Amino acid sequence: MNLPAVPNADLCTMCGFCAQACPPHALRWVENPRETRLVLAPADCDGCGKCVQVCEFKAMTLVPAPSPAGSSVGDEGAVILCSSPVVPCRNCGAPIASKAELAYIVRQIGEAKWQNYCLDCRGIA
Ligand code: SF4
Ligand code: SF4
Repeated sequence: MNLPAVPNADLCTMCGFCAQACPPHALRWVENPRETRLVLAPADCDGCGKCVQVCEFKAMTLVPAPSPAGSSVGDEGAVILCSSPVVPCRNCGAPIASKAELAYIVRQIGEAKWQNYCLDCRGIA
């Protein structure tokens, strides 16, 4: 039995595609005001590998169970495979997106002032 892992977190953009592709919803993309997390419930995973197939960034891989992945979130054995802090709006402090998502955007299109502001505050950027 294999389970997904994210051995190199720097490659993960927190896009959430792997969670979208997981048939039994064993993999979840969870957002709170401080952090975005990729959380696996190992008991629900059948090792199908669809999450790995859909990860175009090659951040995810299958490893023999038990998964070496991250810290427990105390949710029926669920573990955090990867996480990224949420970046607050420079003006109002509202959450914009995860640091990993914003870093990906910057890599694609370069730095832009508006990236530091939420949608409501971009007009002042
Ligand atoms: S592991 Fe891959 S598909 Fe999943 S959130 Fe990270 S980059 Fe996206
Ligand atoms: S291996 Fe399959 S069941 Fe397990 S997390 Fe990935 S997509 Fe979901």
